[in-house]
Amino acid sequence: MACIDEDLEKVRKFLDENNIKLSFTDYDDNYIDHHQDEIVVYRGQSKKHKLFTILHEIGHYFLELHFDEETKATTIIQEVLAWDRGFDVSAALNLDIDEDEWKKLMESSISKYLSY
Ligand SMILES: [Zn+2]
Repeated sequence: MACIDEDLEKVRKFLDENNIKLSFTDYDDNYIDHHQDEIVVYRGQSKKHKLFTILHEIGHYFLELHFDEETKATTIIQEVLAWDRGFDVSAALNLDIDEDEWKKLMESSISKYLSY
């Protein structure tokens, strides 16, 4: 069973190859800056959640479906697709993803978008 550090290293390499920058923030927030091609991830989460959120943001980077207008529904659609695309990337990189934990994080992240 591969360790998280190895998987994080593979993801870093993938980011390098795609010219996507990665940085960490003290704010409890994860996002991709599309103008800077930079993924920003909350420093205070577990390594596993860092790995998952980076993959999710990579999912956003590679999403092909975009909406002209942003609504709650389009936001949710984009979020779900980004999680799914991120999961595809993890498979392509042969990462050892804990699927139950992945689904939990996906659900809790999407729940936040439903409540505002
Ligand atoms: Zn997202």
